[in-house]
Amino acid sequence: MIDAHIHYGDDSPEFLALLAEFDLKLLNISFVHGPDDPWRNQAERYRSLARAHPTRFAWCTSIDLPRFDDPTYTASAIRGLEEDFAAGAVACKVWKNIGMEERRPDGSYLTIDDPIFDPIFDAVAAAGRTLLLHIAEPLACWQPLDPSGPHYSYYSQNPQWHMYNRPEVPSHAALIAARDRVMEKHPALRVVGAHLGSLEHDVDEVAARLDRYPNFAVDISARLGNLARQPADKVRAFFDRYQDRILFGTDVVMRTAPAALPPEERAAALAPLAETYRTHFAYLEGTTEVTVRGYTTTGLGLSPSVLDKLYTANAQAWYPGI
Ligand SMILES: [Zn+2]
Repeated sequence: MIDAHIHYGDDSPEFLALLAEFDLKLLNISFVHGPDDPWRNQAERYRSLARAHPTRFAWCTSIDLPRFDDPTYTASAIRGLEEDFAAGAVACKVWKNIGMEERRPDGSYLTIDDPIFDPIFDAVAAAGRTLLLHIAEPLACWQPLDPSGPHYSYYSQNPQWHMYNRPEVPSHAALIAARDRVMEKHPALRVVGAHLGSLEHDVDEVAARLDRYPNFAVDISARLGNLARQPADKVRAFFDRYQDRILFGTDVVMRTAPAALPPEERAAALAPLAETYRTHFAYLEGTTEVTVRGYTTTGLGLSPSVLDKLYTANAQAWYPGI
């Protein structure tokens, strides 16, 4: 099976054993925090893991944030992508800072449908690679903090990303519309929407985009809590109906590399990761009670053929070369 959205750059023997236990391959996702982020170091790490352990790791690259004052920006971003694709990167990721943080020279928020991205996205399509978009955030980002919601800990600990009462920031709807325009403008480009395309509050909203844009798929990474809070019958029907368009992923972020820990501490460091996978399996496959991010529901009991697509075949189809 393939975890198609993770940030876990380690190859300690203990970690490799865990991947073997779950028969897992990981798609490590590079992303760019800000204009000065040395993100190439991270990409390089993911690239070398994929080269050293091609059955266990694949990687996704990114692009520098736009530089409107640099006439060479577009060409250099495209050159970087072409080199990374030649070196095995299966996709290019763009993060939520596009739309919510980065600005144009006139001070307005830079959105993902800006023409500066068009030649770059055309180059991704021409290379037969995929664009992974984490654009916008859950709807809860624009709402008051809700201690019972699945995103409470993130927004209470990362207030800079909580957009409630910040009318200068584009709305959730505006950012989603900008993202949707990317699929519209680039029908030959495969787009995967990370985190259920930031429409995780209602699978019907995700379904509406999947119906409208045949070049769009989503991963479920880090959004099991939102799925669990919707009626199990409705969510099961969503997975059945869109069984070719939904990718498995966890978005687990490695804090400390197990390889950097003393061997006797590594098993304990990896236990939460193994637990994350078990929770996903219990929710997606099981038919009994399961607690996901503090919310108890019933497992979806997805069929073996739907699970096989979700776990493996869809990642292979949407990220050719993985
Ligand atoms: Zn991620």
